[in-house]
Amino acid sequence: MQSPSLINSPERDTEIEKNVAAARQAIAEACRAAGRSPSDVRLIGITKTFPAVDAASLVRLGVTDIGENREQDAAPKASELAASQVDAEWHFVGQLQRNKANSVASFAHWVHSVDRVKLVNALSKAALSHGKELNVLLQVNLDGEPSRGGVELSDLSALAEGVAASEALRLRGVMGIAPIDWQPAKAFDLVAQCSQTVQTVERAATEISAGMSGDYREAIASGATMIRLGAKLLGSRRVDTGGHPDQQ
Ligand SMILES: *Cc1c(COP(=O)(O)O)cnc(C)c1O
Repeated sequence: MQSPSLINSPERDTEIEKNVAAARQAIAEACRAAGRSPSDVRLIGITKTFPAVDAASLVRLGVTDIGENREQDAAPKASELAASQVDAEWHFVGQLQRNKANSVASFAHWVHSVDRVKLVNALSKAALSHGKELNVLLQVNLDGEPSRGGVELSDLSALAEGVAASEALRLRGVMGIAPIDWQPAKAFDLVAQCSQTVQTVERAATEISAGMSGDYREAIASGATMIRLGAKLLGSRRVDTGGHPDQQ
């Protein structure tokens, strides 16, 4: 069990600090290679399967954007950090059921995985009931594999219009996960095209959430503005709790 103040062991803190420094440097190099500024790429620390104390370490090291893919893990972690006055911006990045919308809206600032109109309505209502606005990214299904989550590309514009018309959701951009059997560059170029489609609906929806520990360089080359790193920051996961069906 963690101490209430969420302090890691010095050894673990040092390990995470090294990982964060290496990640920042690699991101800066990828940005330089792409002719982009590192300040245009937001690093989101994905803490799934890791304890709240690791999330707290990340926040104290300046990785204040924290992402989770399962509501039942995310909600208590967000509460633990809040109770210890560790201020994080929470990103929900996993497949989301409508009956979890209320909980997710209670702690999240961003939802990266909106992929159907029914979820739009549930999330908007939930956000309203919490008296807040939620930043929303539309997850796109790049290869049409139905188990993966994400909106079919042919339905993307309609979904974008649905979010733009909602009361409490702010349409901010798109999210994509590269299918394991694709060249990452092909996947992320398609995500960038989807971003253009969404920007015809909402000009300000310029965020592109793309890239994980294995493919963030390619994502940065294709214009990602948010990258989602788990293993690179916290080490390999012993348990698989879902998320990307291919790249765990
Ligand atoms: C787990 C997960 C990540 C992070 O994956 P790593 O390979 O550990 O960097 C990113 N995005 C989503 C949606 C995830 O589920």
